[in-house]
Amino acid sequence: MEYNIALLKGDGIGPEIVDSAVAVLEKVADKFGHKFNFTPYLIGGCAIDAAGMPLPQETIDGCLASDSVLLGAVGGPQWDDQPGERRPEKALLGIRSALGLYTNLRPARLYPALRSASPLKDEIVGKGFDLMIVRELTGGIYFGDRGYRDGKYGREAFDTEAYSVTEIERIGRVAFDSAMKRSKRLCSIDKANVLESSRLWRKVMHELSVEYPEVAYTDMFVDNAAMQLVRDPSQFDVIVTSNMFGDILSDEASQITGSIGMLASASLGASTRGMYEPIHGSAPDIAGQNKANPLATILSGAMMLRYSFGLSAEADCIEDAVNSVLDKGYRTADIIGDSTASPLSCTEMTDKVLSEL
Ligand code: NAD
Repeated sequence: MEYNIALLKGDGIGPEIVDSAVAVLEKVADKFGHKFNFTPYLIGGCAIDAAGMPLPQETIDGCLASDSVLLGAVGGPQWDDQPGERRPEKALLGIRSALGLYTNLRPARLYPALRSASPLKDEIVGKGFDLMIVRELTGGIYFGDRGYRDGKYGREAFDTEAYSVTEIERIGRVAFDSAMKRSKRLCSIDKANVLESSRLWRKVMHELSVEYPEVAYTDMFVDNAAMQLVRDPSQFDVIVTSNMFGDILSDEASQITGSIGMLASASLGASTRGMYEPIHGSAPDIAGQNKANPLATILSGAMMLRYSFGLSAEADCIEDAVNSVLDKGYRTADIIGDSTASPLSCTEMTDKVLSEL
C-alpha cells in the first residue's frame, strides 16, 4: 500500500524525534512492502520565523491533502512573547480544527520494565496499568464564547463550556467502540453534580450505553476521578471525557507512568486521516542535543498505522520492538532512573528500535 504522510516537525526536539519515527516507519514499509511518502510542512515557532504565522495555509492544505499527519511538538521561549493569536501553541488548536479532529486518544501504559519510574508505590502499580483516555477535542470551554465584561466585582473575564448532543454522541461512540476493542469497560467522567453541560453529557452517554450492552459502563465525577487515578489506576480501562477534563486527567495519567517521553497520542475525526503526536512538548532545555527520547513519537507512528491505515501487524511490530528494547534495558536519560549505565542518545535509541524490527 502507498500512503502520503505530512510531517509537522515543529520546534525544539520536534525535528529530532520526527526523524526517528520516519526512520522506523521507513523500515516497516520496507519490511511489509509498503511505500510511505513524507512531505514536511511548517508549524509553530519555525513557521512564525519563516512565514510570520504559526499555521500557514500551505500547512493546512498539505495536511488536508495527505492520508495522515505526524507531528513533533511546537513552542519555545523565543516565541513566548508573541500575542495570543500568534503563539506557536495556537497552531495546534488551529490544525485540529481545520482537520476536524474531534477525538483525542491517549493511551497511558505503565511498561513493566519502567515500573520503577512511576511516582506511585509498588503496592499501587504492582499490577501495572494500561488505560486509554478518549478526550473530546474540538468543543467545550476551549472553544466556547469568551471575553471581558463588567461583572458584579468590576472587570471580569469569562469562558464558556457548551456541548451539543451531536458532539457528545460522536465522542461517545468512539469511546464505546474503543471499549469494545479492549476490555469492554468504559468510564465517563463529568461534573454533573454542578454543570448543566455535564448533565447533558451524562444523559447522552447513558442513552448510548443502551446500544452497547456488552460494555460495562460507569460514570464518575471528575474530582473523584483525579483521586482514583492515583489510588488505583488499574480500575480504569477506557475513559471518556470532555476537552478540559481530558486535558488535565490525561496529563495526570501520563505522569503516573513516570515517563512523558514514552506516551503517544492520536487525534481523529470522521475520516481515517488523523494526526499523531507524542504528548510531550518541544523540550527546549534539551533541544538540538540528541538527548530526546524518541519512543513516544515512534509509538505515535505505530498508532498511525493502526488507526489511520488499518495496518495492525505493522503497528504491533513497532510496539513489540519498543517493548523489547526496554526489556533489554536500553534507556534514554529521561527514563534511566537510578541506573548507573550511560543513557542512550536519541539516535542510538532509534537504532536499537530499528535493529529489533
Ligand atoms: P515539555 O514536555 O516540552 O518538557 C517537560 C520536561 O520533560 C522537560 O524537562 C523536557 O526536557 C522533558 N521531556 C519532554 N519530552 C521529552 C523527551 N521526548 N525526551 C526526554 N525528555 C523530554 O513541556 P514544557 O517544558 O512545559 O514546554 C516546552 C514547550 O513545549 C512550551 O513552549 C510549550 O508550550 C510547548 N508544548 C508543546 C506541546 C505540543 O506541541 N503538543 C505540548 C506541550 C507543551
